[in-house]
Amino acid sequence: MRIETDPKLGYEDVLIRPKRSTLGSRKKVDLTRKFSFRNYLSNTDIHYDGIPIMAANMDGVGTISMAQSLSSQQLFTCLIKSYDSAELTDVFTTNSNLKESTAMSIGITSPELEKFASVKKEVGTDLKYICVDVANGYSERFVDFISALRDDYADVVIIAGNVVTADQTQELLLNGADIIKVGIGPGSVCTTRIKTGVGYPQLSAVIECSDAAHGLNGHIIADGGCVFPGDVVKAFAGGADFVMIGGMRAGHNEGGGDVVTKYHNDGEYILDKDTNSYTPAIKPKSFVEFYGMSSKTANEKHFGGLKDYRSSEGRTALVPYRGEVEETVQDILGGIRSACTYVGARKLKQLSKCTTFVTTARQYNTRYEESTIGD
Ligand code: 5GP
Repeated sequence: MRIETDPKLGYEDVLIRPKRSTLGSRKKVDLTRKFSFRNYLSNTDIHYDGIPIMAANMDGVGTISMAQSLSSQQLFTCLIKSYDSAELTDVFTTNSNLKESTAMSIGITSPELEKFASVKKEVGTDLKYICVDVANGYSERFVDFISALRDDYADVVIIAGNVVTADQTQELLLNGADIIKVGIGPGSVCTTRIKTGVGYPQLSAVIECSDAAHGLNGHIIADGGCVFPGDVVKAFAGGADFVMIGGMRAGHNEGGGDVVTKYHNDGEYILDKDTNSYTPAIKPKSFVEFYGMSSKTANEKHFGGLKDYRSSEGRTALVPYRGEVEETVQDILGGIRSACTYVGARKLKQLSKCTTFVTTARQYNTRYEESTIGD
């Protein structure tokens, strides 16, 4: 056993120091990035051009409807694993705009590989991105799977994860992956850290893995743990090429979950003039169920229940229903634009170079948080 004592940081441990800047308006900030990927085809063309924020491949988030909406806003979606090959073939052949902004997702079982092979055969180059993710990206079997996938398919951008350390980021890049998904345990509906004690503070994971990846012309996704738009900013500022979001995208129409109404009293009472008594005002509030993909709920939905040798590593939560996703996207993008003007970054690409983090014990003032009634 050993103990590492140098500090490791989460998004909640830092703020970004403002700097003098000549940047006049938020409107002028360019949030798009262009990337070419290290193992995808053997040329140096631009392979990706868009706003590098991804919807997570989670139920209620990584849906086809979400992909269609986000694609029109230049954002990316990793589709959930449960779509069958007919649905995927249909979506990629009839929506060629999704080619540049949408990944099919699989795990590392034989049926999943066969599903990918059959969709790829039907769709050809219109299926460009494959996201291969497992809870633990450290197994030899996972690395071998990525390596074999690369040998068989030169013309797919391989997203692989999840890991949190520089060594395994490099291992996966050297074995054929293009983009490494970084994050173990930071997610909003994840209980891995509670159940297993395993994890790594997310900002440090992003800083260390991006540094390792960029040395090999690889890219990383900061996956999970963003609670506020400011956290998405911190992820980019820490060196992330892409940021993946689950919980911040949950509760929208595009996620397709059932909207449930709960009735509650928020402290308001109604006066009954006849009896001169007060009764609690009961108001409806709408929610959508959102759960981790390793939760008991997800295991019951997709795998016929939790296997007896596993514990659930996810929560099931009710999140407020929030209508269309477009407004949420604008809120996140507005936050990033504003951050760029604070540090003098004309382009998202420059944000990391322009950033000095300061560590802090207190993120923001919570005095009126409970009594907030609007923006
Ligand atoms: P969020 O943006 O909600 O904080 O995090 C989303 C990420 O959490 C996903 O992209 C995925 O990596 C991770 N995740 C999703 N479901 C689960 C789960 O059930 N358990 C764990 N450990 N992680 C999960």
